[in-house]
Amino acid sequence: MNVPRFTCLLIAGVLCLSLSPISFAAKSKSSSKSSKSAKSKSSAKPSATPAAKPSPTPNNDWQVIKVGPRDYLSLDNVAKFYGLIGNVDSTGKSVVLNNGRNQLQVTLDSREAIVNGIRNWLCFPVIAHDNKFLVSRIDLAKTIEPQLRPHMIQRSGKVQTVVLDPGHGGFDKGAASAFGKEKDFALDVARQLRPLLQAKGFKVVMTRETDVFIPLEVRARIANATKDSVFVSIHFNATGSNPSATGFEIFSLTPRGAPSTNDESLALHFVNMQAGSPMEAQSFELAAVVYHSMCGHFLEEFDRGIKRARFAVLRRTQIPAILVEGGFLSEVSGDAKRIAEPEFRKQLAESICTGLEGYRALVEKKQRPMLVAEYRARAAGEITVVDLAVPPARLDQPTAVSNPPFIPIVNSAPAPAPPATPPQVNPPDEPEP
Ligand SMILES: [Zn+2]
Repeated sequence: MNVPRFTCLLIAGVLCLSLSPISFAAKSKSSSKSSKSAKSKSSAKPSATPAAKPSPTPNNDWQVIKVGPRDYLSLDNVAKFYGLIGNVDSTGKSVVLNNGRNQLQVTLDSREAIVNGIRNWLCFPVIAHDNKFLVSRIDLAKTIEPQLRPHMIQRSGKVQTVVLDPGHGGFDKGAASAFGKEKDFALDVARQLRPLLQAKGFKVVMTRETDVFIPLEVRARIANATKDSVFVSIHFNATGSNPSATGFEIFSLTPRGAPSTNDESLALHFVNMQAGSPMEAQSFELAAVVYHSMCGHFLEEFDRGIKRARFAVLRRTQIPAILVEGGFLSEVSGDAKRIAEPEFRKQLAESICTGLEGYRALVEKKQRPMLVAEYRARAAGEITVVDLAVPPARLDQPTAVSNPPFIPIVNSAPAPAPPATPPQVNPPDEPEP
């Protein structure tokens, strides 16, 4: 029986990783050899892990492990569900799960994860428990699942209009460098992005077209009054505490019951349940698709990651909403100079446009979004798994591209829902970036 053999080896590997990473690496090699024959048994249900005492499960595929107040899933459970092969790095603290199409890397005691080549910030750190690596249920449902199976997210309909929101304006200058102000750079990117989107068949609504102050709630109101739309707020970063901070980042709304990315101190003992949004999953996916395009178009920009926040424009919008940070005005040797170049802002607009096209194709045609490595390979003129001369692979039609080389995804069961949360409260917005 090949499936049990694979399963046991994988579990054994994860179980023994803190004791013997090298032996795990050797075992995972042999497990990948057996994976070819395991393919034919893909419908088999995974067995419960021996060390875990499972709580009531949402379905047979998940063994929820309760640690303190929080629900977790073991990484071997995650690997089995998504058909991923596991490996541990030489430190014994990082685990890489891969199936040739999707890749997930997590690190013990860290909220930082790499999903399909892009930095992600989990709501809660990965923990060790009973010799297993555990990832929180909320992170599995809200961060990992939308990226490993983007086609499983419930759709909000069509994406006909993009509401562009250049940050700040008027007396609110935002950040500034020696070369200019955030409010002007953000408006320029939006102005350049508008005709690009229109050329691709989008309608465009701007929350401001001139150097004028628009209150945050008005920006959200404009978004909410626009049907079949998504909201893209454009900003540039700055920090006084770390002048060498550089790179892109992107935000979507913090899931209900979780701390925002910048709430470092709350990540371990977070109990406050704050409001979420019915568009939370779509917003996160929009962020991921646009961010892959941004990082794929700019080799020189540091990937600061896909983050979560409760900024007013994210919390008050009822359509898929993201906030883009296009580099640091406080980083004088690189970012600030680049942001001041019209060509950079044009390319930034192009990369956001391409990402929005990718999101529309995912929502309306179930086309798999391009990943950062595919954008970069295309830019380098390399032959890639994505042949742009033919229509992209549809997620519901397995192809050579979408078929993982090891064990296929074993079922179409939904990922676990986040834990039930208490009645909604009305927290203050987080300070605008
Ligand atoms: Zn800003």
